Amino acid sequence: MCKWERVIAHVDMDAFYASVEIRDDPSLQGKPVVVGGSSRGRGVVSAASYEARRYGIHSAMPMAEAERRCPHLVRIPGSFSKYQDVSDRIMEILRSFSPAIEPLSLDEAFLDLTGTEKAQGPPPQVGRKIKNAIHETTRLTASVGIAPVKFVAKIASDLEKPDGLVVVDPGTVESFLRPLEIKRLWGVGPRTQEALRELGVRTIGDLASLDRRTLTGRFGLHGEHLHNLASGHDERTIVPDWEAKSYSHENTFADDRADADFLEAILLDQAHRVSRRLRRDGVTGRIVQIKIRYHDFSTFTRRVSLDGHTADASQIYRVAQHLFHKNWTRKAVRLLGVGVSGVIPAASESLDLFTPSQVQDRRRRLAETIDRIEERFGRGKVIPAKTMKPRPRSDGA
Ligand SMILES: [Mg+2]
Repeated sequence: MCKWERVIAHVDMDAFYASVEIRDDPSLQGKPVVVGGSSRGRGVVSAASYEARRYGIHSAMPMAEAERRCPHLVRIPGSFSKYQDVSDRIMEILRSFSPAIEPLSLDEAFLDLTGTEKAQGPPPQVGRKIKNAIHETTRLTASVGIAPVKFVAKIASDLEKPDGLVVVDPGTVESFLRPLEIKRLWGVGPRTQEALRELGVRTIGDLASLDRRTLTGRFGLHGEHLHNLASGHDERTIVPDWEAKSYSHENTFADDRADADFLEAILLDQAHRVSRRLRRDGVTGRIVQIKIRYHDFSTFTRRVSLDGHTADASQIYRVAQHLFHKNWTRKAVRLLGVGVSGVIPAASESLDLFTPSQVQDRRRRLAETIDRIEERFGRGKVIPAKTMKPRPRSDGA
């Protein structure tokens, strides 16, 4: 048995939009259901239930074609805010298994499970746990692939859909890949497939046994990459969403503004918005940045690294305010923005030695209360007193 050096899971919901609609309207059960725009509006299929797929219907197919193939097809326009809500729950569940998740779309994500074995159990067990947790919360099924290589995990999740679980042990990656068609290789488009077919390559195994020089001669550097993939080598790692994500908020003013009170109030409001998003994602950042665009469109960004990580609105505001006054030329401002980067999961945040922890605790509780109120009653029902003073005016004053 080979050792797992990396444990990567790919989680993919089964026929996501269609499954959500069927879950919410049991009369649709067992019927060919698609989500997508009407054929009169030249709509396309966004998702097809497995019953609809039996008619050869798949996503991205023109709706007119889908209706030709299956005259009793049930079409649902779809509700993307609903799918977004379900997706948020799913990503939250995945985050409880590992902080390093890389969402690819609303219904699909990679997770780096390396090192979670002690807490979560070996790969097959954690795979079942993930599937069960998603089903318990959403009553929807997911397919999971687990492998030591990222793209292999993605192939694996697709193999036994729906409700699949495929674990590829480290010692079996090559033999797992060998019989599969080359179109399953991630990043191999129709043109490359066609060119490979001309070389007599049908399966990933054919590709792996092809001479490396033949491939580089035909495809250059891409050939090298293809050969590596076919042999199960791929160094791509998870790009956690908290790294890729930018937490920032900008406002462009209807009229250029040069009054410090107004601009400070804007910064404060932006700091609160950024803080809210950081806390919602359970992350903290170390770099605070401001962006100033003047009336003549000249644009400046200034950033500073903190001693520790924070998601605290007051701290973000204090730093942004300081940066602003240090750099503002007193010219009229057209756009102002605050951002936080260098983000890590909140669990690993270092203690902020400069703020007594009780104060920090109280601030966090207050911020969470505001979030809850805003979730129920809408944004802007609770605003820091400072942002109430100077209101943006529309009369050009
Ligand atoms: Mg899916």
